[in-house]
Amino acid sequence: MRLKRLTLHGFKSFADKTEFSFEDGLTGIIGPNGCGKSNVVDAVKWVLGDQRPTSLRGKEMLDVIFNGAEGRPPMGMSEVLLYLDRPLPDGQGLREVTVGRRLFRSGESEYLLDGRAVRLKDVREALMDTGLGVGAYSVMEQGKIDAVLSANPEERRSIFDEAAGISRYKLRRKEALRKLDKAEQNLARISDLRAEKQSRVRSLKIQATKARNWRETAERLRAQQCAVALVESRALGRRLEALEADLARAESDVAEAGRVRDESRAALLDGEARSRELGQRLRELEELRAKVRGIEERRRHECETGERRRVELEALAARGREALEALAGQTEDTRAAVAELEAGLAELEADKRRLDEELPALEQRAAASRRAHRDAAAEREGL
Ligand code: ATP
Ligand code: MG
Repeated sequence: MRLKRLTLHGFKSFADKTEFSFEDGLTGIIGPNGCGKSNVVDAVKWVLGDQRPTSLRGKEMLDVIFNGAEGRPPMGMSEVLLYLDRPLPDGQGLREVTVGRRLFRSGESEYLLDGRAVRLKDVREALMDTGLGVGAYSVMEQGKIDAVLSANPEERRSIFDEAAGISRYKLRRKEALRKLDKAEQNLARISDLRAEKQSRVRSLKIQATKARNWRETAERLRAQQCAVALVESRALGRRLEALEADLARAESDVAEAGRVRDESRAALLDGEARSRELGQRLRELEELRAKVRGIEERRRHECETGERRRVELEALAARGREALEALAGQTEDTRAAVAELEAGLAELEADKRRLDEELPALEQRAAASRRAHRDAAAEREGL
């Protein structure tokens, strides 16, 4: 197994995609404190499936994503790819294996094996007994050498086992022993169950005898129940006929009731129409009554005015009568005066007639007087 290449993108301080090539011989990375040397080791541990943030020198797993630096925003994903050359089982050459891991800031993560998304378990199985892995000592970070040297012989043994590639067989042996243990436990359980079942079989036999007796009794009971049912069925048949007759009557009653209901409904509709009509008529009558009241009011008012007028007229009539009586007295006087005047007039007419009779003689006298006067005047002239 050989480490060939390592590419980091967005992992810790490696914001830009960075590739490390591990050529033949030894490769060393040097640089000042804090330049990111240990981050490369962390990347190898992480891509092999390390799950502990503290082992990767962080508080939580998201700390492995580039967190931003001056003039550079944080990134949303961290990706590490590890390229290995793995010897083929028959010793004929090498095969390249790529192991990858991605983590997104949303918390989603995935493992890759030769570019395919796989489970962590698949990555672990692929690397088993290669000496690579999270628990293996193929990655020695700062301070780890000290820890190995101070380990006890048993712990050191496991390191060598892993490096020699026999830990897979040890694991398989452990698993086989565990399975054997489980099989023995199952065997013990089965014999317990067998003993339990035997006692259950005895009790079931007793129950089966009881069940047979019960079945026979039940059959007898059923036969008797059939006989009773036959009798009951006949009685029920008669009862059914009576009920059917009742039903036919009830149905005709229902039909009759339906007809009555229809009639009532029609009558109700009529009544409603009539009621509407009467309501209309009532409203008209009320309007009429209001008009009549108006007229009555006017009449009453006219009566009152007429009454006042009548009283006034009576008073006027009384005054008229008084005036008439006074006039009657005056008429009498006037009539007497008229009679007097008529008498005077008769006298005057008699005087006139006499005067008319005397008029020619008077005119002759007047003409004679005038002639006498003219003569006298002519005489006086002559004189
Ligand atoms: P030393 O020689 O002291 O051991 P080093 O070269 O091993 O130093 P590292 O410990 O690998 O250095 O790197 C530490 C640097 O990585 C620190 O500057 C730290 O800010 C940076 N760093 C660690 N995690 C992140 C991260 N998520 N995002 C950005 N930078 C990170
Ligand atoms: Mg360091």
